[in-house]
Amino acid sequence: MNTWTEWRSALPSDYAVVGDPIEHSRSPLMHSAAYAALGLDLTYQAVRVPLEEFEEAVSHLASLGVKGINCTLPLKGSARAWALARGGLKGAEIGCEPGPNSVNTLNLIDQTGISTDEAGFMALVKEAIPEGKPKILILGAGGTGRALAYRLIKEGWPVFLWNRTPGKWEAALDSMPGPAVIQFKPNLKEIEVVVNATSTELNGERLDLDWSQTGGDVLAIDLLYGKETSFLHEASRSGLMTRDGSVMLMEQGALSFEWWLNQPAPRSAMLHAIHGHSAANK
Ligand code: NAP
Repeated sequence: MNTWTEWRSALPSDYAVVGDPIEHSRSPLMHSAAYAALGLDLTYQAVRVPLEEFEEAVSHLASLGVKGINCTLPLKGSARAWALARGGLKGAEIGCEPGPNSVNTLNLIDQTGISTDEAGFMALVKEAIPEGKPKILILGAGGTGRALAYRLIKEGWPVFLWNRTPGKWEAALDSMPGPAVIQFKPNLKEIEVVVNATSTELNGERLDLDWSQTGGDVLAIDLLYGKETSFLHEASRSGLMTRDGSVMLMEQGALSFEWWLNQPAPRSAMLHAIHGHSAANK
């Protein structure tokens, strides 16, 4: 079990990840492994922060000396609003400029924010599909799904979108940099990459997908990491290539590390920490 704390009980640390739920997060393991690999005397903790307590919790963490936080679900919209109301949005020079919906990395000293999820996701996709821009379906219009859709549409990918609650993608499309196709039911026909950007399995639920609609070389990506989700299990049983979110987690964490500390992140030590923990859990 990963260790975490409620924000009111947090201890002083240098960096932290905040979210709700937070117990699944491997970020503390990954960042601690990076500090150890480079001999840095720094600490990183996981802190549960409910959505409605975000501002209060961030002030509290800053008062404890926390210099930067990674924000996970469901806090990415709040993190963006927090930075916009203070030091502003940054990251363009490192390919981590936030889109209109989401920020996942805050600097609590100058009160600015960037988004490293998109670059982390692109690293994951490029590792599996080095060339081309295949038809991609994003399941989930949460903070992460919207951030990924924005980047993919901006880069000219043919993007298909589905969300459980109707209307969310329609509302988000206005702020997207180009068109995309919204599906009312997930339809895998002609899709070449399908991305599970929902928190379904964190809630102990599963997506109802008709895998028999797929054909040929199709890649299924689950943004969750460290466990074989029913999404990946069913995709693999249907003959699809599969990837979990480990590489994305590592790359988004490495980019946050580099933005905060202005030095190269030890990527292989970070990935090893994520995988080592998965193996230990099996
Ligand atoms: P979020 O903002 O809370 O959004 C959650 C999304 O999941 C919403 O679209 C929601 O749909 C959908 N959902 C929840 N339960 C569902 C169910 N039973 N059936 C269908 N859809 C359901 O979360 P987020 O920040 O976008 O994160 C989404 C996932 O990506 C999480 O699992 C997170 O751990 C993962 N993630 C991984 C990485 C990585 O580095 N590997 C990075 C970022 C995120 P409604 O709108 O209908 O509620």
